[in-house]
Amino acid sequence: MEVAANLAVIQDKIGQACTKSGRRPDEINVIGVTKYATIERTEEAVEAGVKNLGENRNEGFLEKYQNIGDKVTWHFIGTLQSRKVKDIIDKIDMLHSLDRVSLAKEINKRASSSVNCFIQVNVSGEASKHGLRAEEVIPFIEEIERYEKVHVVGLMTMAPHIEDKEEIRKVFQNLTSLRDRIKAKQIHHAPCEFLSMGMSNDYEIAIEEGATHIRIGSQLVGD
Ligand SMILES: *Cc1c(COP(=O)(O)O)cnc(C)c1O
Repeated sequence: MEVAANLAVIQDKIGQACTKSGRRPDEINVIGVTKYATIERTEEAVEAGVKNLGENRNEGFLEKYQNIGDKVTWHFIGTLQSRKVKDIIDKIDMLHSLDRVSLAKEINKRASSSVNCFIQVNVSGEASKHGLRAEEVIPFIEEIERYEKVHVVGLMTMAPHIEDKEEIRKVFQNLTSLRDRIKAKQIHHAPCEFLSMGMSNDYEIAIEEGATHIRIGSQLVGD
């Protein structure tokens, strides 16, 4: 399928999820996750109107960035090794995987200006998943205050790969309520307005539960 056709289907579903939950489609940022896509397919997505792209590895990001440049907003959604921060930090617009103090420290050292970061949260507590446990997030935000270039714009999570939609929904609800608690504290370096949650299989549920950034790979640019 052409990316434009996939995007139309996704936009339709976003519209329905918004209607169901009393939200506006313009509150939802669609991030096209192109980690398995060729440059050609990625360019097709940009031409179809995708304004945000996400990559999860440095090599993949740099290759796409060299071809596409600043036409889109760039999201880094994968685990970022500290020694690789310097290669990408001034090129990306948002990092979705802040998960440790040592990474915040390295970002602060290497970035030339403030970096918009989502804290990755392992809401479901699966051992295989990256991210902080929910109860660790507020102490973490306090701890990184000294790294003044690290700006916490939101929280990110990945729901478990399960069939049970209500279990998935609970994960998203938990992230939203944690975000609400942090936002209410009005912390200067952590306004924490955004929620990066929802992928190809669960973005409609994520929107119903408050997602502002959905990360879509296979449904958008898959074949
Ligand atoms: C690959 C990936 C996605 C997109 O997954 P799809 O199921 O293909 O939509 C979203 N978020 C992260 C962190 C990913 O690694």
